[in-house]
Amino acid sequence: MVVKRLSASPSPVSMWPTRSALPGSNDASAISVMDRSDPPSSTQWLVNPQLDVASCVPEEGTGAYDQLHRYGVGPLQQKRIPREYFKMPAEDRDARIWELRRELGDRLTILGHHYQREEVIQFADFQGDSYGLSLRAATQTSAEYTLFCGVHFMAESADILGGENQHVILPNLEAGCSMADMAKPEDVEAAWKTLQGLGIEGIIPITYMNSAATLKAFCGRNGGIVCTSSNAPRVYDWAFERGERVFFFPDEHLGRNTAVRKDIPLDQMVVWDPFQPLGGNTAEELRNARVILWKGYCSVHARFSVEQIEKARADYPDVQVVVHPECRMEVVQAADMDGSTEFIIDVIRAAPAGTTWAVGTEINLVRRLQMQMPDKHIFCLDPIICPCSTMYRIHPAYMLWTLEHLVRGEIVNEITVDPIIAGEARIALDRMLSVP
Ligand code: SF4
Repeated sequence: MVVKRLSASPSPVSMWPTRSALPGSNDASAISVMDRSDPPSSTQWLVNPQLDVASCVPEEGTGAYDQLHRYGVGPLQQKRIPREYFKMPAEDRDARIWELRRELGDRLTILGHHYQREEVIQFADFQGDSYGLSLRAATQTSAEYTLFCGVHFMAESADILGGENQHVILPNLEAGCSMADMAKPEDVEAAWKTLQGLGIEGIIPITYMNSAATLKAFCGRNGGIVCTSSNAPRVYDWAFERGERVFFFPDEHLGRNTAVRKDIPLDQMVVWDPFQPLGGNTAEELRNARVILWKGYCSVHARFSVEQIEKARADYPDVQVVVHPECRMEVVQAADMDGSTEFIIDVIRAAPAGTTWAVGTEINLVRRLQMQMPDKHIFCLDPIICPCSTMYRIHPAYMLWTLEHLVRGEIVNEITVDPIIAGEARIALDRMLSVP
């Protein structure tokens, strides 16, 4: 096992901030606040050509769409929008978005996930990871509309945490998350019943933030909790103080990497494959397991490999390798450090000029770090550089389409979570935030 030189040090969070908390106070550490008054003064976004998503061909075994077909999951259907929105010159389209934004004023907040392309992120009032944007949704009090430039589960979290009179809008309903879709609530319920039927007691369910509201609700009503990529080790501590084992979904890799960090031996972990009887395990294996990992993965982070790290080290002997904990265990162990998206940003930002960084996370973020820190050599571990193809479904054309409806007083693509589900999910989220 490679000894890591540095690990993420999660920032402490006590409770969801009160809705009266000022935006940009302590909680702003997880987000970047953008100047919303004017468009970028330079054309730097436009001179950096965007990736062609069609050129991204998932490798065998990491093809999320094949996997989702197996899971019987299809994306939500987005209503077709007029072709004119896509045919408009980008400059005209962007100018119109800025104009509508100004017209909507404080009634509108635009949230942008770090993995969004520059053409989208330029409009964001707040930029962050899924956790940071959820905090933002919980604290922002004034805006009637939140245009959420991320994926479906994030917009659900924003709706759960936002005020009753606030509307969360996802510009393209087909922007889902392939990992979140790999754990269908009915499959998780069936697995839970099977485990209970075997008489296995003391199981604490943990769902990753990157999951549907229904799974967060499942955890809320079954004594479980939500975790993020930065607080997962502390959430494991919380769980093992209350039970003897953990049932972790939907990301097998984050669950395993966290268990390894907590010194749980690999032979005390099993993987639950929803297509196999007993998840592909024997009853004995399940009874002996301390960690039961759902067979799901992120199609972006599963692409990174040890070979890519070895090549980076051969090409640049002074390189430092930082990866996201959604990467496979052997990749995390071969890296110098691992941590959440915010951790990756912070650690590279704090590094001296002239340092070299190989990064194992989504390409739009890596490209942004390259642009923002030209004094450092930053590159993506994966030479094929796939963007997250579900995040990529957010396009400025959809933003313009939704904003044009909003100025007419029509809300399209609103994401609303059933109040009962929202209440149960909130229990699991609040448990997470009670973790010291
Ligand atoms: S990067 Fe992975 S986990 Fe994040 S939204 Fe895309 S598929 Fe889902």
